[in-house]
Amino acid sequence: MYINRRDFIKSAGAASIGFALADFGFDIPKVKAATKDFKLTGAKEFTSVCHFCACGCSVIGHVRDGKLINLEGATDSPINRGSLCSKGLGYGHIPNSDQRPKTPLYRAPGSDKWQEISWDEAIDRAAKAMKKARDENWIEKETIDGKEYAVNRTDALSFIGGSQVNNEECYALIKMTRAVGGVFTDNQTRVCHATTPPALNAAFGRGAMTNPWPDIQNAKLIWVEGSNVAECHPMGMKAIMRAKERGAKIVHIDTRFTRTSKIADQHIQLRPGTDIAFLGAIISYILENKRYDEEYVKLNTNAYCLVTKDFDFKEGVFSGYDAKKRTYDQHSWGYQLDAAGKPIKTDDINHPDSVYTKMREHYKRYTFEMASNITGTPAEKIKEAAELLITTKPCVMLYALGMTQHTVGVQNIRCFTILQLLLGNVGKPGTGIDAMRGQPNVQGSTDFGIMFQYLPGYLSYPTQATGTLPEWSDESGSFRAKFVVNLLKAWYGEKATKENDYGFSYLPIRNSHHNDSLYISFEKMIEGKVKCTHVAGQNPMMSQANLNLTHKGLSNLETLIVQDVFINETAAFWERPGSDASKINTEVIFMPACSYLEREGTMINSMRMIQWRMAGPNKVGDSKADLWIIDRLFKKLRELYKDSTLQKDRAILDLVWNYPEENMAEAVLREINGYDLKTGKLLNGIAEIKDDGTTSSGLWIYAGVFAGDKNQAKRRGQADKGNMGIFPEYAWCWPDNIHILYNRASCDKNGKPLDEKNKIVWWDEAKGQWDGYDRPDVANLKEGPKTPGGQKPFRMNGEGFSRLFAASYKDRNPDMTTRDHSYTPVDGPLPEFYEPVESPAKNSLHEKIQFNPCVIYPRLPDGQRIGTKDEFPYVLCTSSLAEHWCSGTITRNIPYLNELVKEPFAEISVELSKKIGIKHGDDVKVISARGEVKVKAMVTNRAKPLTVNGEETHIVWMPYNWGFKGLAKGPSTNVLTIDALDPNVQEQEFKACLINIKKA
Ligand code: SF4
Repeated sequence: MYINRRDFIKSAGAASIGFALADFGFDIPKVKAATKDFKLTGAKEFTSVCHFCACGCSVIGHVRDGKLINLEGATDSPINRGSLCSKGLGYGHIPNSDQRPKTPLYRAPGSDKWQEISWDEAIDRAAKAMKKARDENWIEKETIDGKEYAVNRTDALSFIGGSQVNNEECYALIKMTRAVGGVFTDNQTRVCHATTPPALNAAFGRGAMTNPWPDIQNAKLIWVEGSNVAECHPMGMKAIMRAKERGAKIVHIDTRFTRTSKIADQHIQLRPGTDIAFLGAIISYILENKRYDEEYVKLNTNAYCLVTKDFDFKEGVFSGYDAKKRTYDQHSWGYQLDAAGKPIKTDDINHPDSVYTKMREHYKRYTFEMASNITGTPAEKIKEAAELLITTKPCVMLYALGMTQHTVGVQNIRCFTILQLLLGNVGKPGTGIDAMRGQPNVQGSTDFGIMFQYLPGYLSYPTQATGTLPEWSDESGSFRAKFVVNLLKAWYGEKATKENDYGFSYLPIRNSHHNDSLYISFEKMIEGKVKCTHVAGQNPMMSQANLNLTHKGLSNLETLIVQDVFINETAAFWERPGSDASKINTEVIFMPACSYLEREGTMINSMRMIQWRMAGPNKVGDSKADLWIIDRLFKKLRELYKDSTLQKDRAILDLVWNYPEENMAEAVLREINGYDLKTGKLLNGIAEIKDDGTTSSGLWIYAGVFAGDKNQAKRRGQADKGNMGIFPEYAWCWPDNIHILYNRASCDKNGKPLDEKNKIVWWDEAKGQWDGYDRPDVANLKEGPKTPGGQKPFRMNGEGFSRLFAASYKDRNPDMTTRDHSYTPVDGPLPEFYEPVESPAKNSLHEKIQFNPCVIYPRLPDGQRIGTKDEFPYVLCTSSLAEHWCSGTITRNIPYLNELVKEPFAEISVELSKKIGIKHGDDVKVISARGEVKVKAMVTNRAKPLTVNGEETHIVWMPYNWGFKGLAKGPSTNVLTIDALDPNVQEQEFKACLINIKKA
């Protein structure tokens, strides 16, 4: 089977990428169409959305006698136009898989087997375990920094998951989590794209992919960095190929030559973890040679703002650094302000205090030669890429986990925002930054605030300093406080009144000194503080770094509750090879969830498009929709508390939770959209949300998905006026069905399109309003370019313009209360290069600072050793394959995909194979400071050795999709990877750690 993988790669290399992908599901041959029609006669047809990557391809399925008999791509989807990749097509096996558990299961403490139980027993056991953990570990008041606060929370419960379940299920999950007082909550985005929202938000004011998939066709340059889009987002690749046919150039920057490199005009190989050195050199080249877009920069960015005189950068750290705490005081990172508290702008971009000057000074050190020394790629290749970037417009930048999974992940992505703003490549067709999300609903689970630091809609989660509505509003601004009020009205209805600050005190309050992220929750399991964990559609025993610690955490829980389609490695952690089940006292309750094809609801893809999924085949056995499971679990919990008179239980007892059995998902979606509580009518958009308690909205950015009392997510309209790839009548995008975010920036200051041939929105003088092929991204369509509101393409930033320098800033109302705030990363207002925590090279920019000075690692005395190059001389980089997806829970249960790639491997270069005497196909041991695995070696020319600081540096690449469950089993790569975390969002450094490799 290993040979199949080789043959597969050979075929992809020998043929065009289009041909290679056609073998695996693209372009279903017409010749089969006639027989297919015959087979489908009389079958029930339904549409849904693929389960895997966040391209969000639409599928059509056919059902006969309750069984799925056909699954294919929907031709009316502007994303996939009838195509599906190997994974999307392979999912057709799942509704008929005999591997799926058909009833709930129970594993008693110390037992080595599952026993079948009823749903009543499963729900009862789960609810009682949650209640026990909650009641025995309730924190009503807490003394923090010498002051007592009411916090009303429990640190003994944790909730994981959401990115593989529907939006309505995410909403129900987070509503339950917060009502029971949970603060440990995270979804898969913590390990994949957690770095994206703060990075994009710090520049633009919103944290999501800026332009839709079909818009890639409008680009003339496609810059792909840190992504193998051909394998990991195949329909994104289809959009790229469309642009290529129209003459676009493609640059691919990655640590290996991949199928994506194959179709690129330029491929640049970087040492893992050195993107900031590479991109910093291009930023410097643009600034030093004044190659930026002057008009755009002046009109739309903070380049002309004056930075405080206290701001500084010395010896590898910014001003305000506390070396003991490894944190910054951000006070010196602000602007010089006028009397109204607004940033002072200069007319002279070269003013010594201007953002522009500060950036020039900062990036002066980043020469092409310096970048070459760090990255290992020749200086002339970097310059060539820089020239192509500067001279080829419009340009869209695409990235995925190669940029996000680093201890400098946020700052990696910040480099993109700086480059695209300098070049005027944001808010226009064919431009922007496309953060390619990897899980089907990771955008949704993040939107719904299944992250410890957010309330739904990217509203900061309250801590002791912001534990009341006025305090929260003072910190985050009155503009956003309105959305908190609407959330609380959706959750607590009539119990949320003006007099009680709309029930703000129902929310559990975090301790700002606690890190409540996913990794820390496992460390708290090891400490015995987290007692009971609920996991829905996530597999941390596969998907986290340093898996031996994950296993230790799960082994120390009292109760683990897992709802999933298959029994995955997390549910069965006690069966892991090498474990002694008799010594593991965690009770496990497994709840069989039905597959996506068997249930209804909405999903949101990477481009913020919310699409409706219909239910197709019958549910397998006694499996249930995740929404049904959460609904039953919460109702059981509430029943257990029904006689309570304690204040702590009011958040559960007063919660509005009365969804109907029939069409439950749509009822939840209505609540998410929100209502005018006076008329009972559904809101038509964000503009209708009020701050006085007369409206409710469970997720303010989704207000409008039910506009006009119609489920907009069900729409399949094909209109594309202007032929720009917008399709405004197909499904619905947040916010307000805007497809290209910040599209006001595609016009000049008079509201006239900068590029008449590729216009997207404009000010229509005759109509007296903004108009366009897309919904204009302005707060009020009637506020023209002569008004302040008509001059704010980046209206979601406190400043109203975009931020090259992520200054610390609060925008003030006329009465000097806070109106809004802008986000500043905790590790600096400008990206700075630091080495990965485990690196073969010394930091050549800073003598005293080796890695990100805000990273705290190791955090535990045992199990978090930092490996050095003497013992572990090679760099390990990991990612995924076209044929498997994430932890493989689904794909390793699809026989066809297992036939394509059956087992994991370690890819090494020809040079490394000669150096260490390992041949292609040999069994090898790969060892890191955290563990070892035995796999086969694959010798290729794809990750060549690089010369770094004058030394030859070798890279080893491994896929991470295997584990000990499923039809195809294999060792898990994440036993090796490091759990050092980005200080902004606590995302691990998957893409760079040190290993050794030896013949087994
Ligand atoms: Fe489309 Fe991604 Fe599914 Fe493939 S895995 S069919 S590209 S959504």
